[in-house]
Amino acid sequence: MPSWSRDFVRCQSCSTQLFRHKAKGYCERCYRVEKEIQKLQDLSDQELHKRSVELFGVQPARKEYLSVAVISERYSDIKLRWLKLYGAIDRDPTILSNILVVEEILNEVARQSGRSLSFFDNKLMGVQSNMPLEQRAMMCKLMLRLLVSRRASS
Ligand SMILES: [Zn+2]
Repeated sequence: MPSWSRDFVRCQSCSTQLFRHKAKGYCERCYRVEKEIQKLQDLSDQELHKRSVELFGVQPARKEYLSVAVISERYSDIKLRWLKLYGAIDRDPTILSNILVVEEILNEVARQSGRSLSFFDNKLMGVQSNMPLEQRAMMCKLMLRLLVSRRASS
């Protein structure tokens, strides 16, 4: 039954079929992040601290901030955020009944086009009521594909 790989219907991390299966149920994009995360497991507290400052650019304020779990989650979120959103919309388009999700995607497109991150703030109220959910999902997924494929080259 699985169509994406021998054992999986879709990637276990991003829930999409956008990229080829790499290993263990992960696409090539997510597998790369998984491997990075695995490396965190072997680091000492001191190295983890250094890594988190390097990854997030801020000095962690609380001790629990340093845990491998927290760093892993944030790292995965930074690296796979738009890809995971694509998968989430694919499985449940009602996510887009929250107009802030649409706004967030558009703002990221604006940011990557050299505009400010608030370029589309408060400009989508008409979309909320007038644009059917299926069409909204289609547009959002097209924009997300653009974001995700741009990230591939960086
Ligand atoms: Zn994936």
